[in-house]
Amino acid sequence: MKEKIELLIGTYNDGKLNEIKSFLTSSPARAASVGDLPIKIISLVELNKKIEIEETGTTFLENALIKATKISKETGLITLADDSGLIVPALNGEPGIFSSRYAGDDATDQENIKKLVSKIKGLKREERKAYFQADVVVVKPTGEHIHAEGRVSGEIVTTPKGDKGFGYDPVFYLPTMRCTMAELEIDKKTEISHRGAALIKLAPKLKKFLGIR
Ligand code: IMP
Repeated sequence: MKEKIELLIGTYNDGKLNEIKSFLTSSPARAASVGDLPIKIISLVELNKKIEIEETGTTFLENALIKATKISKETGLITLADDSGLIVPALNGEPGIFSSRYAGDDATDQENIKKLVSKIKGLKREERKAYFQADVVVVKPTGEHIHAEGRVSGEIVTTPKGDKGFGYDPVFYLPTMRCTMAELEIDKKTEISHRGAALIKLAPKLKKFLGIR
């Protein structure tokens, strides 16, 4: 039997972890693109390790690299990290890289949504256009890394709908699918999401990076 390569998913966000895990293990899109990946996924929770990370970068990519590099160095494991967020051009790009802490450092998803909704109330539909962006990196303890970026467009609605996903999903409406991101099952979300788009670009690079034939 082929030995599996250990890959640490560097996040404490369960929503992200589940989506990345589902992509690497069960996604039909990934299977069609690169086939099975002989990877053993490890989470930070399993390692029982709390690593403090200061996201001091000014872009999603910089922050993803800061996180993955620090975690990989501290654990000695090849680490995948995602930095992502919501961008509303009519709000000058807010919440952007501050998406997880929009309503304050320890803000909950509900508090962040409340702040966003209060800011877009009264804006025309055209001005409520938004997109999610994800930058996903994989870093080896040596510092070598690969990267991919993905986006998905939609619009912000003022009434949250759906109970799946995480973060701003309940107020992120997808006109082509006529539902919010929080109404999609995990596989369907990964098929169309910013994170899914980044991961599908990353998959062939990852195969090469890990020396998988
Ligand atoms: P990070 O953990 O610093 O990358 O912050 C990501 C934040 O962006 C999350 O806490 C959410 O607020 C938001 N976000 C990123 N991706 C998604 C998504 O797929 N759905 C909803 N919100 C997201």
